Amino acid sequence: MYKCLRCGYVFTKKEMEDYFKDFKCPRCGYRILMKVRSEEPKVVKAI
Ligand SMILES: [Zn+2]
Repeated sequence: MYKCLRCGYVFTKKEMEDYFKDFKCPRCGYRILMKVRSEEPKVVKAI
């Protein structure tokens, strides 16, 4: 999961890709994101 450093919105990589197919916040479009640990036992693919 990722957290936007501007608005604080937390989202999954899939959610982000569904919105933009790009590396930015689905809510505000900010491009600086912090990677956070997901509760789901799921492997995150490298970009
Ligand atoms: Zn944001």
